[in-house]
Amino acid sequence: VEKIRAAEVEDMPLFSFEYFPPRTDEGVENLFERMERMVSYGPSFCDITWGAGGSTADLTLDISNRMQNMILDLLRRSIRIWSSIWIWISLASSQVCVETMMHLTCTNMPVEKIDHALDTIKANGIQNVLALRGDPPHGQDKFVQVAGGFACALDLVQHIRAKYGDYFGITVAGYPEAHPDMIQGEEGVSLEGYNNDLTYLKRKVDAGADLIVTQLFYDTDIFLKFVNDCRQIGITCPIVPGIMPINNYKGFVRMTGFCKTKIPDEVKAALEPIKDNEEAVKAYGIHLGTEMCRKILANGIKTLHLYTLNMEKSALAILMNLGLIDESKIPRSLPWRRPTNVFRV
Ligand code: FAD
Repeated sequence: VEKIRAAEVEDMPLFSFEYFPPRTDEGVENLFERMERMVSYGPSFCDITWGAGGSTADLTLDISNRMQNMILDLLRRSIRIWSSIWIWISLASSQVCVETMMHLTCTNMPVEKIDHALDTIKANGIQNVLALRGDPPHGQDKFVQVAGGFACALDLVQHIRAKYGDYFGITVAGYPEAHPDMIQGEEGVSLEGYNNDLTYLKRKVDAGADLIVTQLFYDTDIFLKFVNDCRQIGITCPIVPGIMPINNYKGFVRMTGFCKTKIPDEVKAALEPIKDNEEAVKAYGIHLGTEMCRKILANGIKTLHLYTLNMEKSALAILMNLGLIDESKIPRSLPWRRPTNVFRV
């Protein structure tokens, strides 16, 4: 949060990457290779999601712990190959850092399991948690509080602060278009529903959250209005936009349907003629993501959170278009620097 506040004051934009736990061991190893490449561009933090219904609890914990110690791991491996002095110089010049944030939900999580997760990451030096209620488990419509567990993210934030004091930096989710439960069909969300959602968000912040990361959106004006509305009711913590580059049309339709995200008419019109051409959709996703981020940065919000969906090309291409990363600044000698054509899609 300190870094994010400083970025706004000093006009030095930051970015962060979100990943999800892959289903197979091979997928996990591929993800680490990709993360190693992406981390060399200097994200301010990386985060890993908690599987719906707690389905990937152990894997999320494992990946978080490995992520947090990735630099040490790389260093250990590279010492075998190069002289340690050169590696330290390279690391210093590339400003590598992997601040890890683990997502944690209340779904199917009695308090003992929540504490086990928090104790485990604490023992591994992780200091950032995204505290969530979570969605209902597969096959259920409504979120049901598990026996001995929590009913909502607010309870979880209160618990973390009560039990762990200031050890953890706590992030919570914010919904520029209101939480999907508040959205009724074509009518969208009522003003009352939107305001209730904001008031509830303020309660999460007042209970101890330091940072808000938002749900994905494709209408930048809605996000900017949300930030303004938050400020009006006294939410002062940084609010970081969640940017999901459009990678393929079917995934985009599925995700925006699930989250009940509004799609601006110009985005619909641009996608319709190219929806069967994957490369064209990707290129448009990069263009749109770049324009959205440009507008957000111009409005004084200086941290961009990229939902990578475990892919690197679109996220990196957007950051390069914005001038926030520069491939030539990554020392060639770094062991994880691979010849890339990541910016070409
Ligand atoms: P809450 O903040 O508890 O509440 C959700 C909504 O319910 C509120 O907006 C409010 O309208 C209402 N509400 C709840 N309690 C109260 C109350 N006491 N008073 C008034 N209103 C209340 N899901 C996963 O399974 N794993 C993840 O890793 C994950 N990561 C996410 C990351 C981000 C940035 C976002 C935005 C969402 C993520 N989700 C994830 C999805 C999230 O779990 C769902 O959106 C879930 O339905 C709500 O979680 P929440 O923490 O926002 O819930």
